[in-house]
Amino acid sequence: MGKLAQRVKALTPSSTLAITAKAKELKAQGADVIGLGAGEPDFNTPDNILQAAERSMEAGHTKYTPSGGLPALKKAVINKLAQDQKLTYEASEIMVGIGAKHVLYTLFQVLLNEGDEVIIPIPYWVSYPEQVKLAGGKPVYITATADSDYKISAAQLANAVTDRTKAVILNSPSNPSGMVYTKEELKELAEVCRERDIWIVSDEIYEKLLYGAVEHVSVAELSEDAKRRTIIVNGVSKSHSMTGWRIGYAAGDREVIKAMTDLASHSTSNPVTTSQYAAIEAYEGPQDAVETMRTAFEERLEAIYPKVAAIPGFRLLKPQGAFYLLPDVSEAAQKTGYESVDEYAEALLTEANVAVIPGSGFGSPDTIRLSYATSMDQLTEAVNRIHQFTEEKW
Ligand code: PLP
Repeated sequence: MGKLAQRVKALTPSSTLAITAKAKELKAQGADVIGLGAGEPDFNTPDNILQAAERSMEAGHTKYTPSGGLPALKKAVINKLAQDQKLTYEASEIMVGIGAKHVLYTLFQVLLNEGDEVIIPIPYWVSYPEQVKLAGGKPVYITATADSDYKISAAQLANAVTDRTKAVILNSPSNPSGMVYTKEELKELAEVCRERDIWIVSDEIYEKLLYGAVEHVSVAELSEDAKRRTIIVNGVSKSHSMTGWRIGYAAGDREVIKAMTDLASHSTSNPVTTSQYAAIEAYEGPQDAVETMRTAFEERLEAIYPKVAAIPGFRLLKPQGAFYLLPDVSEAAQKTGYESVDEYAEALLTEANVAVIPGSGFGSPDTIRLSYATSMDQLTEAVNRIHQFTEEKW
């Protein structure tokens, strides 16, 4: 009697979750571990959103909804896209799902045939390759290094396209690098996609977390052609500190959206009803909490970036968005006697009591990812520990 299907045998479990689990285990044993692994804002969901959720339950909105989301939520998303991106969509071009993660999963399921190639820039968000593989697709990687600000060029993209290429994934601001594509860079990438006739999956989940004078541009804004071939994926998790509510959406081609909605009708029925009412308030209510959280992240970035840059053997770019730092620590690992950055990261956890995410999970094995979605005190203490540990072993 065989047990597991081939498709899950090939799955790589999320490295982010693995290290977080280990950190929790050490904490439970009494160790004073500081976690810099978090992929979520450390603020509570704003009060007005909590209240809207409560009101919806009291009003009896506790039943199934249409599979692709409540009409009122689709309208809120349409208004958001019109206001922020100056893009016009109809309700038939919007699908709301259970977080951006499951929206992406559903998208790859409806887009890919067996063997279709999807271009994924390195460093990547951990779930892209696995989701592509689960849909029968083949990830094709392009490496972006620190020298190019962890961004791919149009020439690199053009070189990676083959007859089997179906799509490219763009994630700006990026998890894990925090880098943001400029309008000009996106224009060049979109031109390659037009010439080679491929889809663009644009993951814009960190859109609201930008620092300094940087601007978010959606590739779909650039031309009618770019809009036609782009599926925007976004949601309320990071912008409104709503990771646990699980609301994300896709905006784009009507046929793709219909297929995603049909698939959801058999897999999820609908996104959680209460969460949808909360998300309507997130988009339509006051937005000051979004800015308050962004400001807090920026203050932390300003405080912590020079301290991380001063750790011996650490080289890093200053991120422009999201809430992660991605230092190249290959020299630090080597000078402190570790065979790999993975081992150095493991030692940071077991010996210095700081949990970081090794970059190998993002296709970038010389780096570690530090999240600054934690209090300034904890951040300062964690960075001091890493500094001291590295200096002592040097
Ligand atoms: N995309 C990126 C780049 C992310 O970092 C995340 C969450 O960590 C997601 C998508 C998924 O967000 P959610 O499913 O919470 O909406």
